[in-house]
Amino acid sequence: MIIMAEHAGFCFGVKRAVDAISESLKSHSEVWTIGLPIHNPQEVSRLESLGLRVAENDSEIPDGAKVLIRAHGEPLEVIERLKRRNIHVEDMTCPFVRKAQEKAAMLSREGYYVVLLGDKNHPEIKGITGHVEDVRNSEVIADEKEADNVQYHAKTALISQTTQREERLERIAGILVGKSSELRVCNTICKATAQRQEAVRELVRNNHVDGVVLIGGKSSANTGKLRDILESEGVNVLWVEDEEETEQNSEWFNDKIMVGIAAGASTPEWLIDKIKNIIAAKQEAQGVLIH
Ligand code: SF4
Repeated sequence: MIIMAEHAGFCFGVKRAVDAISESLKSHSEVWTIGLPIHNPQEVSRLESLGLRVAENDSEIPDGAKVLIRAHGEPLEVIERLKRRNIHVEDMTCPFVRKAQEKAAMLSREGYYVVLLGDKNHPEIKGITGHVEDVRNSEVIADEKEADNVQYHAKTALISQTTQREERLERIAGILVGKSSELRVCNTICKATAQRQEAVRELVRNNHVDGVVLIGGKSSANTGKLRDILESEGVNVLWVEDEEETEQNSEWFNDKIMVGIAAGASTPEWLIDKIKNIIAAKQEAQGVLIH
C-alpha cells in the first residue's frame, strides 16, 4: 500500500518561478537564471531543453538578455548591476523570501544588529544579507552553538531563512534575548515549509508505515529537513532523486507493506507521479494490495 503525505511537491514560490520561466520561453529562445532556478536536476533538464540558460554569476549573462530572478532572490547589488547592463529582469523572488529581505533592510536601517538564522552558503541567505544596509552590522548563524557566540548589541533583530524549523527559531530567540536590551524576532519561516514538515510527521504518526520514500534533489535544503524530521521519528527513509535511483534501490522495498511518499517543495508533480507508479508496480509484483 502507498500513502502520500498531505502536502508534497512544488510550493507556491517555486511553482510561480517555474511557470514564469516556461511562459517566458514561449516568446524568447533563451532565458537566463543566475544559479539553478530550482534544486531539482530533472526539472532543470526539462527547462534547459526548452531554452533555459543557467549562469554561475551575472557577468556571464550577455547584454540585452532576459533574466528571471529565481524564488531564492538575489542581493540588491546584483539586480542593479543587471539593470545597468540593459538586461531585462523579471523578478520572481518568492513573496515570502521578499518579506525576509524587506525585514532585513528595514531593521538594519533602524539600527538593529541583524542576525540571520540559516545556511550562510545558501543563495536565499546570500540574497537576504544583500539587502542589509550595512553588512558589517549583521551575521549569519546556523545553530544554537553559534547563537551562544553572538556578542551583545543594544538592538538585535533575528530573521530566519524561510526553510528553518520553528522550534530552532524559538530556541535561538531564547538565547539571544539575554544578549540584547531589545530583541525583535521575525518569524519568516514560510507556511509551505511548515506544512510539508507537519505533513511528514502526520504521515508517520497516523499510519503504520514500514518506510518512507522521500523524493527530491539531494541539494534541496527543504528536502533535507524533511529527511531529518523523518529520521527523528525513527522511520526508515529512502531519499531518491529520480526513477533510476528508485529502481536501483529495489531491495529496500522487499519487506515493506505500507510505504509512505513525501516530496520536497522543489519536486515537480510529474516526477512524483512517475516514482509513485514505479513503487506501485513493485508492490503489485510482490502481491501487496494497492491502495
Ligand atoms: S519554500 Fe516557501 S519561501 Fe521558499 S520558495 Fe517555496 S513558498 Fe517561497
